[in-house]
Amino acid sequence: MERFIIVGGGQAAAFAAKTLRSEGFEGGITILSEEPYYPYERPPLSKAVLQGAADVHGTCLLTEEAAADLRIEITLGQRARSIDREQRVVHLETGEALQYDRLLIATGSRARRIDGHFANKSNVFYLRTLDDALALRAKLGSGKRLVSVGAGWIGLEVAATARKLGMEATVVELADRICGRSLPAEVGAALADLHRSHGTRICLGAGITAVSGADQVESLTLSSGETLPVDVVVVGVGAIPNDEIAREAGIETANGVLVDEFLRSSDPLIFAAGDVAAMRSGGGPPIRMETWANAQDQGVAAARNMLGRDVPYTPNTWFWSDQYDVNIQMIGNVQPAAGTALTRKGEGNGFTRFSVVDGRLVGAICFGCPRDMAIVRRLLSKGYVVTDDALATAPDLRKLL
Ligand SMILES: Cc1cc2nc3c(=O)[nH]c(=O)nc-3n(C[C@H](O)[C@H](O)[C@H](O)COP(=O)(O)OP(=O)(O)OC[C@H]3O[C@@H](n4cnc5c(N)ncnc54)[C@H](O)[C@@H]3O)c2cc1C
Repeated sequence: MERFIIVGGGQAAAFAAKTLRSEGFEGGITILSEEPYYPYERPPLSKAVLQGAADVHGTCLLTEEAAADLRIEITLGQRARSIDREQRVVHLETGEALQYDRLLIATGSRARRIDGHFANKSNVFYLRTLDDALALRAKLGSGKRLVSVGAGWIGLEVAATARKLGMEATVVELADRICGRSLPAEVGAALADLHRSHGTRICLGAGITAVSGADQVESLTLSSGETLPVDVVVVGVGAIPNDEIAREAGIETANGVLVDEFLRSSDPLIFAAGDVAAMRSGGGPPIRMETWANAQDQGVAAARNMLGRDVPYTPNTWFWSDQYDVNIQMIGNVQPAAGTALTRKGEGNGFTRFSVVDGRLVGAICFGCPRDMAIVRRLLSKGYVVTDDALATAPDLRKLL
């Protein structure tokens, strides 16, 4: 009997395993997960789980029962140590060795850490896993002071959740704007305003020059000289792909496992999907995404291609975030190097910002306008040609379809 092994037990792994079965694969499927939980999704960790509105079961993507029904073997709490490509074997840290016919690397990414000031401080948290979220949640509470270091999505979502819990929240960011890598400046400014309107302080251009406290951080000193007293620090300064197991096995990597459009690595029996996969396409630099939709869709596509279906993967660029009561979604290229933008006013402070390049719609951000996203998707898929400002001004966006 053929056996397919999936290293990593998150979003991409769960969808790959389920797809193998739904596509008719009858062989053995084993998921190797170093975490103690059945595959779960991470977006609720910085939102509902942190707020106490969802628990371990609320985030599960593949329960023990569902896995048993699908004859998917899941090994929890065991790290895959190495891959022997010649023998087609995965070695676990326990010493066990498992033979594979096809292998999927779905090891995700991990939080980038800041040592130095923050090393060995018990009130400094990173947020990647359910255990991280549960440990952080235990430290949150009304009246306490939280500092998010880094104004990326995780730092901002945690600050928003902390405010909902009645905490004081400050976001400290070295750059002069928030979400600088993912958002155009004016959308970043609108998001910063949203935070300020909810009482979160945003400190931009702020380095951390000193930290006081022995076991715990008691205060942070910023480059402005200001000192911030703090009860809980959350560091959200990006993620690093867990591609070491591939690199050490001689598989090509470059900030992720390099894959072709079929999600196949430089070894034709080994595929990669999710945060760890860096896909080469169209001659440009490899694209590696750290989003829920990409992990799911690449898991599905990789599974099909492990079965020899040869279906090219079309990147799913959709991303969302929830902060306070505002839903933010984006799709396509929202920060093209050149081009123009059209902004459509929504309800309250909401808006949808369309990116236009060479007279074509190439991407959009729906800020507090979730219903626009369904229309944007259809406009993008039909290659909407922009000849006027109707995207911004048409009374009904659907009429442009
Ligand atoms: C707090 C948080 C909030 C997020 N919010 C959003 C959001 O709102 N919207 C959005 O689009 N995206 C969001 N994301 C991103 C999204 O969750 C990720 O892109 C997605 O989880 C990636 O899935 P994955 O399967 O590639 O990796 P992961 O979900 O990280 O799973 C990989 C698993 O493999 C395990 N592993 C690694 N190495 C080994 C090994 N050698 N042996 C065994 N197991 C191993 C890891 O421990 C992990 O359990 C969020 C992420 C986080 C952390």
